[in-house]
Amino acid sequence: MATILDGKALAKTIRAQVAQEAALLPRQPGLAVILVGDDPASALYVKNKEKDCAQCGFRSFEHRLPAETTQEQLLELIDTLNRDDSVDGILVQLPLPRHLDEKPLLAAISPDKDADCFHLQNVGATLAGDPVVWPCTPYGVMELLDAYHIPVKGKHCVVLGRSNIVGKPMSMLLLRADGTVTMCHSKTADLAEETRRADILVSAVGKAGLITADMVKEGATVIDVAMNAKPEGGFCGDVDFAAVAEKAAFITPVPGGVGPMTRAVLLQNVLALAKTHQN
Ligand code: NAP
Repeated sequence: MATILDGKALAKTIRAQVAQEAALLPRQPGLAVILVGDDPASALYVKNKEKDCAQCGFRSFEHRLPAETTQEQLLELIDTLNRDDSVDGILVQLPLPRHLDEKPLLAAISPDKDADCFHLQNVGATLAGDPVVWPCTPYGVMELLDAYHIPVKGKHCVVLGRSNIVGKPMSMLLLRADGTVTMCHSKTADLAEETRRADILVSAVGKAGLITADMVKEGATVIDVAMNAKPEGGFCGDVDFAAVAEKAAFITPVPGGVGPMTRAVLLQNVLALAKTHQN
């Protein structure tokens, strides 16, 4: 039976470390969150971020705006927050209502206040530089691997999904850690053939039941990033957890695996940004 990678517990430890470091700064770190519209899932994420901030001694500035907010109004707000010295990090909760154009809004956030690491300058730094902030979900996965002493160097890592926020940066971080990385997506010819070769398998697709036990190598590490809403309520990942846990050496649960780590890395990012503003 696989060892469960307990993201919830590790995230708690990280929050405590972040709170300790934040307390040493001359000024409380501040995170501004912009929420447009009334999507219940987004509202819940924002509420959780507010709670996390309070636990770490951060100030949180919530901007809940009506669904009909215009692109210009949002750009104005981002500009104001960029110039506000009490704000160290800014994030725009996605997805946005359809009439809004996400790319220019994310580009308008000053790179030195980019809490989510979505600005192209920071995306570039994770590719080729020395970033201050990290892509939250992929870095959360790396923190989990590290905490459980799971080596990446020389291992065959297979990443399912190539989105800009998960799959692509995940592959990049595994490569930075000296993994040999295969990226798979919806056009991959034989998915099972690729996954069976994985020492470390990361699934970020969003299809419940996609990864069955016959697709996993004995003793592999299986990281399930997905959050699929179950018809009966609650969430599940891409991986058939019960069957795969019999075969894998390490596995993340859903919920309680990668999700809490994503939230914890956001706090680490805000702390890192605050340090650059207060030095
Ligand atoms: P996304 O933008 O929808 O990307 C999904 C990716 O899966 C695409 O690259 C797609 O390929 C690929 N794909 C689709 N069907 C496939 C198949 N049969 N085999 C292999 N690849 C396939 O999703 P995302 O934003 O990356 O999120 C992925 C999942 O992670 C979702 O369930 C989301 O809720 C979850 N998530 C969780 C966290 C967390 O903190 N736990 C954070 C972010 C996202 P193409 O590019 O070819 O279309």
